[in-house]
Amino acid sequence: MHLKLRRKPEIGLRRLRLLELRLSDVAQLAATPAFSTLRAALQAYQARLLAETVTIQQIASPTFEESERAAYVQARLAALSALDQSSVCTDDLYNVYACLRGNDPSRPALLVSAHTDTVFSRQTSLSVKQTAETLCGAGIGDNSLGVAALLAAAELLSQSHVRLPSDVWFVANSREEGLGNLDGIRAVYARLGRCLGRAIVIEGMALGHVYIGGIAVKRLRIACYTEGGHSWLHFGRPSAIHHLMRLGAQIAALRPPESPRSTYNIGVIEGGRSVNSIAAEASLLLDLRSETREGLAALERSVLNLIDLNRTNGVRFEVTTIGERPSGSIPRSHPLVQLAHETLTYLGIQPIFEHGSTDANALLAHGLPTITIGITRGGNAHREDEFIEIAPILDGVWQLLLLIGAAAHLPAHPD
Ligand SMILES: [Zn+2]
Repeated sequence: MHLKLRRKPEIGLRRLRLLELRLSDVAQLAATPAFSTLRAALQAYQARLLAETVTIQQIASPTFEESERAAYVQARLAALSALDQSSVCTDDLYNVYACLRGNDPSRPALLVSAHTDTVFSRQTSLSVKQTAETLCGAGIGDNSLGVAALLAAAELLSQSHVRLPSDVWFVANSREEGLGNLDGIRAVYARLGRCLGRAIVIEGMALGHVYIGGIAVKRLRIACYTEGGHSWLHFGRPSAIHHLMRLGAQIAALRPPESPRSTYNIGVIEGGRSVNSIAAEASLLLDLRSETREGLAALERSVLNLIDLNRTNGVRFEVTTIGERPSGSIPRSHPLVQLAHETLTYLGIQPIFEHGSTDANALLAHGLPTITIGITRGGNAHREDEFIEIAPILDGVWQLLLLIGAAAHLPAHPD
């Protein structure tokens, strides 16, 4: 960046001036009477926001089984009369939609989304522990708080004097976690994509982090088959477990590059019938990730090569793709990213830009400028003792409101 500035100082200066303009934009927006009143309304809403986070968390919502949580969200949105009530609905995948109409229909709409599903089964205890500083419980931060922040934004903005130029679609979507494969947000894009200009994805934790790139992910099920037999009588025949373990050890010895950062994980392994049977069948689930599509393809090729090397008489390998998350990114210089930067800076929070695996992957892969932001800090995600810090939540939601307001004011084609 420094080199670019030296080579083309005139562009650098123009960029700097643009940045200054935008820096004052969020501060100016926050100082308008409509947003000052909104800020006071948010302050008064704070206790409800915590209660709502717990209410949402108490509704079990495993991936593919989001119907009850979706019904709760739809009822909440249907009660907000300032939203376009003809837009409030739930689709076949349990994505819930509601639109706050803007006053300039020619502008592309802003999508604000939060996923409703969790990694926890229906059997998981949903008990919540609250201390003065934290709320602790399965799924509390990922993503009950995100959904509560979405509802707070829909309620506070629709009931305020803020008038936004573009439509804002509030969407609580399904199937973000595990084997959901981002099918929820993909369906949202299929439905709304044509009218969207940009998107903000909410994750309850990681306040201060701005995700500007989606990690490419591919998930494979590798199954191994042999004729099997008796452990004593047929000793020497190929065993599906032995061959799969050999392959697994070779995969585990792979050293993927640090740049682009690429990773693998054998997360599940199963097979065999009994201790005295030569296994006729065994399989493993492999998760492959990379910062770039090319990095992911290279990693997958290494794995497929290893499988080819392990093919031998009487041993059959079968590879099935069980999940695929596309990658994509938004440049740091994009106005939406600049606004996120500026909003956090305005709140005194140091922004951290990074790549992750969220619903934004699917939107970025379609070329829709998208960022993912957090609402508070927390830890132990995807564990039953997941927790969130209470104090930063107010700033986190204020960030969201300012960002929605500023993004809805961006010109139709800011680039
Ligand atoms: Zn999440």
